[in-house]
Amino acid sequence: AKRGGRDRWDTAGPEVLRTAAERLDLEHELRIAISDGELELHFQPIVGLTGQRVIGREALVRWRHPVRGMMPPVAFLPVAEESGLIVELGAWVLRAAVRAAVTSQEPGYVAVNVSPNQLLRPGLADQVHLVLAASGLEPGRLVLELTESVVLSTAPAAREELERLHALGVRIVVDDFGTGFSALSYLRDLPVSGIKVDRSFTSGLGEDPRCDRIVEALAGLGRGLGIDVVVEGVETEHQAALLAGIGVEHAQGYLFGRPGPSYELLPA
Ligand code: C2E
Ligand code: CA
Ligand code: CA
Ligand code: CA
Repeated sequence: AKRGGRDRWDTAGPEVLRTAAERLDLEHELRIAISDGELELHFQPIVGLTGQRVIGREALVRWRHPVRGMMPPVAFLPVAEESGLIVELGAWVLRAAVRAAVTSQEPGYVAVNVSPNQLLRPGLADQVHLVLAASGLEPGRLVLELTESVVLSTAPAAREELERLHALGVRIVVDDFGTGFSALSYLRDLPVSGIKVDRSFTSGLGEDPRCDRIVEALAGLGRGLGIDVVVEGVETEHQAALLAGIGVEHAQGYLFGRPGPSYELLPA
């Protein structure tokens, strides 16, 4: 077994080392990028399905890398998560997103993605409180998007932090709803004011009847619990019409507008 293990390592060795070195480089560069202003936020509208009024904007981080060019979150968030840099990155995103919302003339909310690692560290509620106080943004105009994870549903500290955020008047929504763990216990146990239905259900609308039924059920769940339901990843008029028929009120997707560098940019 030892020999087999070693053979495997020998074969994978150079590859692994290269990757590890690259990750270290990226981590080092990301640390500098955060303080040097290489991160940017793009904003994507969240709209009302009837009338297509913009009700909010989701902030999505990008890294304008001096050599590699514009990098999507998938290219650096994993490194940020593993290195712990996500805490610093998240703090920057929060400040920048709130500043953009205050500067814009738009009355809607700004939605910020929060990683479980940010929430597991104590102090997020304090941080949010400070940012809101310094900016003057009404707490109800800040939405924190939280991805389902096993950790959150079991860690009492995370739950306490969420209660404190809720007490500030900030809204908490469960992102990518339906794809993770403990989805329903989240709605029972945590101060959640909305869900975002994952794009994987949207893409099957009108094609896979199961997707239609699931989205219908989630819309009903939202109505029953009195929480907001936003359906993500709407790309076609057909999907939008089906959603309106089901009674879904809020949506987000390329059909209404792609993420863009300008907050004010009206949906396409
Ligand atoms: P997410 O929170 O589910 O964000 C939605 C993603 O779907 C965004 O990708 C957005 O550009 C994309 N999208 C929106 N509408 C459509 C559509 O109609 N069709 C398709 N195919 N895609 C659509 P993006 O910007 O690459 O972000 C990917 C993920 O990275 C986000 O998924 C979120 O989990 C994470 N992320 C982005 N910004 C932040 C951040 O500031 N902090 C943290 N912790 N995570 C972030
Ligand atoms: Ca999100
Ligand atoms: Ca999502
Ligand atoms: Ca996602």
